[in-house]
Amino acid sequence: LVQLYIPLNFMGMLYREIKQALIDIDDMFDIIEKNPEIEDKPGAKPLQVTQGVVRFADVHFAYIPERPILKGVSFEVPAGHTVAIVGPSGAGKSTISRLLFRFYEPTSGRILIDGQDIADVQQSSLRKIIGMVPQDTVLFNDTIGYNVQYGRWDADAEEVREAARLAQIDRFIGLLPESYDTPVGERGLKLSGGEKQRVAIARTILKGPPVLVLDEATSALDTFTEKEIQDALDRVSRGRTTLVIAHRLSTIIGADEIIVLDQGRIVERGTHTSLLDQGGVYAAMWNRQRQVDEARETLKRAEEEE
Ligand code: ATP
Repeated sequence: LVQLYIPLNFMGMLYREIKQALIDIDDMFDIIEKNPEIEDKPGAKPLQVTQGVVRFADVHFAYIPERPILKGVSFEVPAGHTVAIVGPSGAGKSTISRLLFRFYEPTSGRILIDGQDIADVQQSSLRKIIGMVPQDTVLFNDTIGYNVQYGRWDADAEEVREAARLAQIDRFIGLLPESYDTPVGERGLKLSGGEKQRVAIARTILKGPPVLVLDEATSALDTFTEKEIQDALDRVSRGRTTLVIAHRLSTIIGADEIIVLDQGRIVERGTHTSLLDQGGVYAAMWNRQRQVDEARETLKRAEEEE
């Protein structure tokens, strides 16, 4: 029986390997197919970053011509500052980050980094200087150490550990059976949303990009994780030009400027307190979220008392 079991087990392993390889290839084609049309212009030069100022100048955009998504969006993120974009679902918030990465091109208007139109520079140089902490991080089927190291291949073990420490994931890694060598992803240990996001933050800290895009998780994390993640995000964005695509208002109180987007237009802008004073769209969103948070708290307390 053992003689039969070993080859069968081996075939099972082979089958899983092949299936995973096919899934990986599928993902790759998906990424390539999404943006086949964007190419470097002939003679495009690398982007030269001096300060890291990001500017959107009257940007219009539509995925399909008959349905405009951005209708003249202008704003600037000064070097080292944090600007947050909020607004109802479908307002066009994530579209702004996709345009900044040049996954798509504006129909009209310009996007500039330190005065250089991103349409004129080499895409590879653009993507190198922008760090992204996405809503949902995809982990490679490899060790957790590899997944952090992905931020910068020439980083040494000490730098990897320091990045993990700043992202508040080192203690968690320390408790894993094989520490940094523990396999994660589909074929290894499954990480929670909050843990995956901290791996993404550690990667970004290691990469150390001058411009940062944070696409916040929509899903509610538990309060403890949320605070830990917020601390880690604050740390990574300190001193970097940061654009936050915000789905939760509680996390952006400290932003230098908050931009309220509605149906592709900027309808309000200012700091948290000035927007509350205005008593407009933002103030209404804030009050609604506070009511939801309070209701959640009351429910939780009632459950704990039971
Ligand atoms: P959310 O808070 O729900 O993430 P959002 O403000 O980030 O919303 P976007 O993702 O920017 O919204 O999408 C803006 C609009 O563009 C939506 O109506 C969406 O359906 C549409 N859209 C997004 N991606 C595409 C696409 N690839 N093709 C066509 N329409 C799209």
